[in-house]
Amino acid sequence: MRPASVVIVGAGVMGASVAYHLAARGWRDVLMVDRSNGPGRGSTGAATGGFRAQYGTAINVRLSLMARDRFLRFEDEIGGDPGYMPAGYLWLATSHSELDALRAGLEVQRAEGLWEAAEVGVEDVARLNPAVHRDDIIGGVYCPSDGFIAPLQVLSGYLAAARRSGVRVEWNTEVTGLTRNGSGRIVAVATSKGTIDTGAVVNAAGAWAASLAQCAGVQLSVTPLRRQVAATVPCTVLPPGMPMTIFAGDGFHFRVRDGRVLLLWPSPGVPGRPFDIGVDREWLAAVTRMAHRRVSVLRDIVVDAASSWAGLYEMSPDKHALLGVAPGCDNLYLVNGSSGHGVMHAPALGQLLAEIMADGATSSLDVRALRPSRFLEGRPNQAPGLL
Ligand SMILES: Cc1cc2nc3c(=O)[nH]c(=O)nc-3n(C[C@H](O)[C@H](O)[C@H](O)COP(=O)(O)OP(=O)(O)OC[C@H]3O[C@@H](n4cnc5c(N)ncnc54)[C@H](O)[C@@H]3O)c2cc1C
Repeated sequence: MRPASVVIVGAGVMGASVAYHLAARGWRDVLMVDRSNGPGRGSTGAATGGFRAQYGTAINVRLSLMARDRFLRFEDEIGGDPGYMPAGYLWLATSHSELDALRAGLEVQRAEGLWEAAEVGVEDVARLNPAVHRDDIIGGVYCPSDGFIAPLQVLSGYLAAARRSGVRVEWNTEVTGLTRNGSGRIVAVATSKGTIDTGAVVNAAGAWAASLAQCAGVQLSVTPLRRQVAATVPCTVLPPGMPMTIFAGDGFHFRVRDGRVLLLWPSPGVPGRPFDIGVDREWLAAVTRMAHRRVSVLRDIVVDAASSWAGLYEMSPDKHALLGVAPGCDNLYLVNGSSGHGVMHAPALGQLLAEIMADGATSSLDVRALRPSRFLEGRPNQAPGLL
């Protein structure tokens, strides 16, 4: 296969954003490869499309604010509609410890300039989302500029913009090996379609990133975690502009998308089968019961098992992304481990990785908190609690 200055492995939202940002900075001969047969077959196509800046750590708030800026300019800069809809994120507390954790997050957010995030009382909850049962709720937090984005539209925007700038994309191309020379640099990428000589590799392989890194002998702490989504039949019992509404304690949340209500509630993956994305019938029944208890208008609305789905989060040990050069391999670049926030952070992480690759360091944001070596140094970020 034709040589490339850089091979980006994975053409999901992260790889596409990196490709676009590299090309926009003048990189030539950028090649993306993906083993699937078209866009959105990995986690990006499974994402529900939440966007939030309400996080519990400064770096995640900053990534979101940087990304939000880019979503607002997306149409002019990239082309296409990213679907940014500021419908708000409403977090609900049912105990004082939950409320304290939400308040602690609020302090971090305000220190980063997210002034519109605020604590809300039970009467505000009634106004913001009248459908939710308020018996157990003692308060919460709300941010009106959080809301939704459209994952596949963001992906197709970046893919099209990258292609316009000269990036090549090869589908149905699986990376099976990475060859390093005597100095430890990657010089070739083995694929199902042949070998590609290259000057650098970007690992944008999502939940599969650890096995790709392993091809170069690099240990990467990114593991898959199944995330299931229950979709109701089409209905109009809840308004499309309803905020994403989340119970902070157990993570149950619900929203309206494409005329259906989506119900989510974190659950463990399938024991012994970490990449399994089957939807568990018992989980569907349990999340439906929970929705009926908490949102009575949903009691007459059937959950449509055939339209429900699951995908994989790409978890890092501290639930923060890994961004930059892989420890021990100078020309392997990581943009991994977003831990379920990858679509919303892709505009920021793609730009930041392109800065690292082109200039050796970022200029837009201090990303030391995301350095891949932090786990080896024994200095992970404080894993966020509820946020
Ligand atoms: C149910 C669900 C809901 C979610 N909701 C949200 C949300 O509301 N907001 C949000 O921001 N994020 C959300 N996420 C997380 C989001 O989907 C991910 O963080 C994001 O899509 C990661 O993008 P990616 O490009 O790294 O991975 P992917 O989209 O998975 O792309 C990785 C690509 O790498 C390819 N690949 C892997 N290994 C190889 C190989 N060896 N050779 C060639 N190709 C390879 C795969 O085929 C794949 O296409 C959700 C995820 C799930 C599952």
